[in-house]
Amino acid sequence: MSPNDPALRSFIDVPADCDFPIQNLPYGVFSTAANPKPRAGVAIGDVILDLAVIESAGLLPKISRPGVFGEATLNAFMASGPRTWAGVREAISKLLRHDEATLRDNAELRQNAFVARKDAKLHLPLRVSAFTDFYSSKEHATNAGTMIRGPENALQANWLHIPIAYNSRANTIVVDGTPVRRPLGQIKGPDHPSPIFTACRRLDFELEMAAVVGQPTTMGEYISVDQAQASIFGFVLLNDWSARDIQAWEYVPLGPFMAKAFATTIGAWIVPAEALEPFRVHGPKQDPEPLPYLRQKGPMNYDLNLQVDLTPAGASQATTITRTNFSYMYWSSAQQLAHHTSSGCAMSVGDVLGSGTISGPEKSQRGSMLELSWGGKEPMTLDDGSVRSFLEDGDTVTFRGWCQGKGYRVGFGTAAGTITPAANPPE
Ligand code: CA
Repeated sequence: MSPNDPALRSFIDVPADCDFPIQNLPYGVFSTAANPKPRAGVAIGDVILDLAVIESAGLLPKISRPGVFGEATLNAFMASGPRTWAGVREAISKLLRHDEATLRDNAELRQNAFVARKDAKLHLPLRVSAFTDFYSSKEHATNAGTMIRGPENALQANWLHIPIAYNSRANTIVVDGTPVRRPLGQIKGPDHPSPIFTACRRLDFELEMAAVVGQPTTMGEYISVDQAQASIFGFVLLNDWSARDIQAWEYVPLGPFMAKAFATTIGAWIVPAEALEPFRVHGPKQDPEPLPYLRQKGPMNYDLNLQVDLTPAGASQATTITRTNFSYMYWSSAQQLAHHTSSGCAMSVGDVLGSGTISGPEKSQRGSMLELSWGGKEPMTLDDGSVRSFLEDGDTVTFRGWCQGKGYRVGFGTAAGTITPAANPPE
């Protein structure tokens, strides 16, 4: 049976609304109080399967370098290549099946190999080699462009031809749950004669998915869209926190810099691209037709539901402020990666490609507060009565994402962060 077969069942109990059924098997890195060494695991139901234990027990296919699952990042495993990814996923799927005795009936092995998710500390699952952030939602680009340049010139002339992006910061990517400090920066409002250096006043999130590159490319060579798709190890939730006021002043002429360099949150669980195969769908029609190196045959987007919850400072209850879908993206992750290599730019294992803010056609599907509050002109009222245009200290933003199967969902866990007060600016 294929690891994606909807009929598969595990001996681990998994409710239908749990993100981690046997059809998912996402990879993460975790540690426990009993064993503080970070190592790789796979989430299933409310437990984590310790892959270092399973590998030591000789229950996984041979990988070029033994011991990769005992390492603190998934990079060495990712570097082992798509054939190994598939073989390992198949072996894990088999071990967890309800009708497979090897692990199910070995009490001692089960004792060592399973950890309750609530008892585990989750770490950044990969060493991020580089972080590129795209801008591939037509709705988001149109909304942002309308606010900046007006509806006539919302999309720049290049947008329908090129997956637009900039090189961002890899080393401020943090894992789900890490607090995010409000950044300081230069801002210059219309009434300021000159810029001031102060705490950001228009702090925002950007709802994104990220593709994790699992295969390197050679400098000077480019890959096709199909090769790009095969090079993607998996996908993870990504919040590209953004300081809109700092961005507005600094972005001319080279694009965002410090406004998006202070923190980027990713989920703790990387869902294998293979687990998303049943949810592949066509994206929006691309018109004009892309240049030949960007043309894709068949569906390259994913039917992946996304939700953003905002818990205002001091509240016990979250308000869902956005529900949208990854399938709305104009440029697919495979096109983004193919384009990224097109000049001869070398890609590395562990490169993270942010999709760009994911907004849909409806107002309730907008993937940033900039769009939801229309630049602050239409503040949102939350369920507890608080009003927000941008984020305040103590606010928590939580992303969730899942592909809905028949009777199960392939989910991504959460990518959450709470805003803490800015540092004091120098006198
Ligand atoms: Ca972004």
